[in-house]
Amino acid sequence: MQNMDWGKLPFGYFKTDYNVRCYYRDGKWGEVEVSSSEYINIHMAATSLHYGQEAFEGMKAYRGKDGKIRLFRWQENAKRMRKSADGILMARVPDELFFEMVSKAVKLNERFVPPFGHGAALYIRPLLIGTGVQVGVSPAKEYMFMVFVGPVGPYFKEGFNPVSMQIISDFDRAAPLGTGHIKVGGNYAGSLFAMERAKAEGYASVIFLEAKEKKYIDEAGPANFFAIKDNTYITPKSNSILPSITNMSLMTLAEDLGLKVDRRQVAVEELDAFEEAGACGTAAIISPIGKITIRETGKVYEFAKDGKAGPVSTKLFKKLQGIQYGEEPDTHGWVTILD
Ligand SMILES: *Cc1c(COP(=O)(O)O)cnc(C)c1O
Repeated sequence: MQNMDWGKLPFGYFKTDYNVRCYYRDGKWGEVEVSSSEYINIHMAATSLHYGQEAFEGMKAYRGKDGKIRLFRWQENAKRMRKSADGILMARVPDELFFEMVSKAVKLNERFVPPFGHGAALYIRPLLIGTGVQVGVSPAKEYMFMVFVGPVGPYFKEGFNPVSMQIISDFDRAAPLGTGHIKVGGNYAGSLFAMERAKAEGYASVIFLEAKEKKYIDEAGPANFFAIKDNTYITPKSNSILPSITNMSLMTLAEDLGLKVDRRQVAVEELDAFEEAGACGTAAIISPIGKITIRETGKVYEFAKDGKAGPVSTKLFKKLQGIQYGEEPDTHGWVTILD
């Protein structure tokens, strides 16, 4: 694509040429269909519209210096979508179908894959919805899996700078034995109020606490939380956190860099002792956190005292981004080159 300012693209919807779709009927998946319509035709009594039978994934295709397009750990996204499907009784998307449709959607829209060097990428959104008709509460018999894509710019336009976040205890994202560990839309609906309020109050995101005891950190809206202390990468362990593939990868890279990895309950009071804090996910890889405010008490915890991201977060960010763009060796076999 010419005349495109890739470095300034927002993280948002962008119309491309094609999307791909597949329908599950009579107990099996049909043929993969290519569409140029941005709309789907759906029955008004479909379970996705009434009872939240919907799960999604978020991943990116990266163009390297060599011009090749890379997917990062797509097998993990396929596996997670399978768990989401199982969690709310939807038809599973087989790994082969997942890969076929993701790679097809990327290749059909190749002209939208940003060139190397802008920190931009092609965002990929796989979506699984119940399309079957039910009015009584029960799972659908028919499903649709679709994949659409769109170019997105670098998350941080002005560079890798720390943001402020807010810990709240008057809303929960997910129940301890609920659906927090799977990537379903319902979790997001329930988080919108608190997220928008935090933005209006000047924060980049909220940090939700574990709902039962309200003592431990769960995660930061649509991203996992981590901290650095005494050469250790610390990240919360909880049943209501969505297992981030970025976080999983950062844990491995932290070990590669000689850090210890400690995945355990993380109490809010511990924030005092942390040297660095951050949120991680596909969109930004790492959002360094400069300041965390407890909304109820006004207590403030500061990291990044000089206004800059910490050295360990910076090193981890560069390493993971380097692997995704093919600049660093793919020592863990995380990258699939599309050809
Ligand atoms: C998708 C998501 C993340 C980030 O996961 P990645 O696989 O790293 O992109 C974190 N938290 C929630 C709630 C999510 O939905």
